[in-house]
Amino acid sequence: MKRHGLFHFFKPFQRNLQPGTRSGPAPGAFEPLVAEPPVPQDPAPDLLEDDLAGRQNQRQLETLLNSMQDAVIAVDAEGRVQWANQGMMELTQRVRLQAHLVETVRDPELLRAVKEAVDTRTVRGGRAIAIVSGKTFDVTAAPLPDGGAVAVLRDLTERELLEKTRRDFIANVSHELRTPLTNIQGYSETLLDTISPDSPQREFLEIIRKNAARMGRLTEDLLALARVESGEKRFELEAVTPEDLLRDAAQNFAETSGGRDLELEVKDGAPQLVFADRDAIHHVFGNLLENALKYAGTGTRVILGARPVEDAVEFYVQDFGPGIPSEHLPRLFERFYRVDKARSRESGGTGLGLAIVKHIVLAHGGTIRAESELNHGATFLFTLPRA
Ligand code: ADP
Repeated sequence: MKRHGLFHFFKPFQRNLQPGTRSGPAPGAFEPLVAEPPVPQDPAPDLLEDDLAGRQNQRQLETLLNSMQDAVIAVDAEGRVQWANQGMMELTQRVRLQAHLVETVRDPELLRAVKEAVDTRTVRGGRAIAIVSGKTFDVTAAPLPDGGAVAVLRDLTERELLEKTRRDFIANVSHELRTPLTNIQGYSETLLDTISPDSPQREFLEIIRKNAARMGRLTEDLLALARVESGEKRFELEAVTPEDLLRDAAQNFAETSGGRDLELEVKDGAPQLVFADRDAIHHVFGNLLENALKYAGTGTRVILGARPVEDAVEFYVQDFGPGIPSEHLPRLFERFYRVDKARSRESGGTGLGLAIVKHIVLAHGGTIRAESELNHGATFLFTLPRA
C-alpha cells in the first residue's frame, strides 16, 4: 500500500479530465501526477499482491466517489486541479487537470473556502451560488495531507425551495388570520364595555378576548420570524455607538414596561462603532429585557452592557432570576422551545421571541448564545460586527 500515494490513488479520475491549456500537458496525454516508482524486472510475489490490492482499492474508491450525489474536486497546494469526480464534471464543463481552480469554477465562496483550507490547514465552509445559475451549494473544503485541499459541494437548491415553501405557507396563514383575529378581539372588547359588570357572560367574553389576543401575538411573531428568516426583511445598517443602542434600549424599556419593577443597570465598556439596524436591535433588547422581567420576577436587577471582543462588540442582558438548566441552553433559540411551557403560556409568551432575536442577530453577521446556571440567573449575549 505504501506505493499508492493519494494522487496516485486517484489517478483514474484524470480520465475524466481534460488537461489545462496553460500548465497542463498536451490534450489526451496525461502525465502521471506522482512519478511511478521503478518497476523491478522480476517483481517479487508480495509486491505483485500489494499492487493488485492497491488497484482494487483504487477502483473501489473511484466507484464510490463517482456514485456520490455530491461534487468533489481536489487541488494541490498551489490551487491547481488534481482530480474531480463525475458529479463535479456534470456541474461544469470547465474542469481542467492542472488548471488553476479559479479558471475552473468562478465562485468566490468556493475559492475562498479552498484557499483558507490550504492556508490554515483546517476545514472551512461556505455557500456557493455562482457555480450554476439558480443553484446553491454547501461547500466543505478540507486540507489534504500533501498540502492541497479537497472540496465537497452539496446541492441545497431543493432543500431551500422546500424551506421557502414552508416559510411562505406560514407567512400566508398568519397574514390570513390577522383580520379575523382583530375582529374577534375588537368585538369581544366592545361587548365587554357594554355588558353589566355582574353578568355571567363576562367571564366567557374575557376568555375569548384573552385567547384572541394571544393568537394575535402568535401570528404577528410568526410573520416577523418568516420575514427575517427569508431575508425579505431588509435591515438598514448604520454605524452606531454601543452606548446609543444601550441608551435606546433602556429608555424604551422604561417607557413600555409601564413602571414595572425592574432595576436596570447599564454598563458600557465599548467605545467602538458597530453596524446595526437601530429598530431591529431595539427589538432584540426589548425581547431579552421582557424575558428577564417575565422569568426573573419583579423587583429583579438586570444588567445591560457592551464590551469589545475581537472584531465585534458583545452586548449582554444579565438577570439574577432562577436561571435555566444547562441541558436547555443549546435549544433555547429554536422556535417554540420553552423550558417551562405552562409558565411561558401563562405569561403570554409565544415561544418565538428568542428565535426572532437569533435571526435578527444572524442577519447582522453576529452570533448569539445564553449562559446560565440554575438558581444563578441567566445571561444572553450577542455580538455585532464592528463598523
Ligand atoms: P417565550 O415567549 O416563551 O418567552 P422565548 O423564545 O422568548 O419564548 O423564550 C424561550 C424560553 O426560554 C422561555 O419559555 C423560557 O423558558 C426561557 N427563558 C428565556 N429567557 C429567560 C430568562 N431570562 N430566565 C429564565 N428562562 C428564560
